[in-house]
Amino acid sequence: MIPTKERNHTALLVRCKSYDILVDCGEGTQRQLKMKKIPPTRIRKILISHWHGDHTLGLPGLIQTLGASNYESVLEIYGPKGTRKHMSAMKKAFLYEQRIEIKIKEVSTGKIFEDNDIIIRAAKLEHGVPCVCYSIKEQDYRRINLQYVKKLGIPQGPLLGKLQNNKSIVWKGKKVMPKNATYIVKGKKIAYIVDTELCNNCIKLAKDSDVLVCEATFASEHEEKAFDYKHLTAKQASQIANQANIKMLILTHFSQRYKSIKDIEDEARTYFSNTRAAFDFMKMKV
Ligand SMILES: [Zn+2]
Ligand SMILES: [Zn+2]
Repeated sequence: MIPTKERNHTALLVRCKSYDILVDCGEGTQRQLKMKKIPPTRIRKILISHWHGDHTLGLPGLIQTLGASNYESVLEIYGPKGTRKHMSAMKKAFLYEQRIEIKIKEVSTGKIFEDNDIIIRAAKLEHGVPCVCYSIKEQDYRRINLQYVKKLGIPQGPLLGKLQNNKSIVWKGKKVMPKNATYIVKGKKIAYIVDTELCNNCIKLAKDSDVLVCEATFASEHEEKAFDYKHLTAKQASQIANQANIKMLILTHFSQRYKSIKDIEDEARTYFSNTRAAFDFMKMKV
């Protein structure tokens, strides 16, 4: 909730093919971007988990900066119920002229966006205020089975393109089917779960993720506090990881009471070995 010398508020930048998605925008997020020379103008979508300040205090500043830049996209802001109201209150509070076009979408459980490259889903969490988690998944894609087409002698070019588009072709008088000449590669998936008590939606949304970024505000020794404040412990984060069959768990959003987060990391690792604790500017290719 309070940034420390080592840790900024929460924010996660997801780089897709042609644009970036920012998930949560705690205080100081735009400066973090600047320090890593990431242009904020690449951000097309902002996904807000909930309106507690540690997840949103960076929004007004970032939007003002976009307004003062050459920002030509429409900024899409997704968030739980109440997001429209909070955005309009924010606009009034900071007396800024809106120079960019913003579209707001209030979301609950289900698919919230899809294009040729990705699918974004949201699911409702239990945090005492409207709160959602998100998953971003690359679309599955079809690849040519090179061995197979080589054997038939099909040359590079439009015929292979047709097969890749799931269409059959005729080669030397014989029909070639995409189901034999191609195969499907599963798109990578990341999930982001912060600020909630343990609930079924966590597991459903994170199902089969390559990477799950999950809060572990407390260690199990403070399980009661976690319950009272509707947060997760490290053990509960690893429970989600196991039940959702994910590949890698990244813990984040630690209570400032812990001088070192090694205990939190170790606790989760006892139950789910491929666990790492997030640090500022952590970067990962999925
Ligand atoms: Zn919160
Ligand atoms: Zn929080």
